Amino acid sequence: MHEYSIAVEICDSAIRVAEDNHAASVSTIELEIGELAMINQDQLTFCMESIIKGTLLEGTKLDIDEIKAEIRCECGYTGRAADDSLISYIVCPECGDTAELIRGREIIIKEITVCT
Ligand SMILES: [Zn+2]
Repeated sequence: MHEYSIAVEICDSAIRVAEDNHAASVSTIELEIGELAMINQDQLTFCMESIIKGTLLEGTKLDIDEIKAEIRCECGYTGRAADDSLISYIVCPECGDTAELIRGREIIIKEITVCT
């Protein structure tokens, strides 16, 4: 499952940060997830909760911000893609050409707040 492997990576990073900071626990993990990252947030939260049981991450609050997709087109347009074009290919709403995706597929750990 996609979400499970992502959750493992996030937990590994958070534990590393906590250990590097000699933290007793982690209070919050803030994530930014692009709307096209194909992540089900409920599943990700569920996977994280099962992974962190018994680790120093147990009880950590998970904050997820969804990042809206943004495109850039050769015609100069930057912003949202044309409606419904994002799944298969990306279409500029101004000129109808295929545009480049500049935001929306990322999975970023924005901040990890530790308790010492
Ligand atoms: Zn365009």
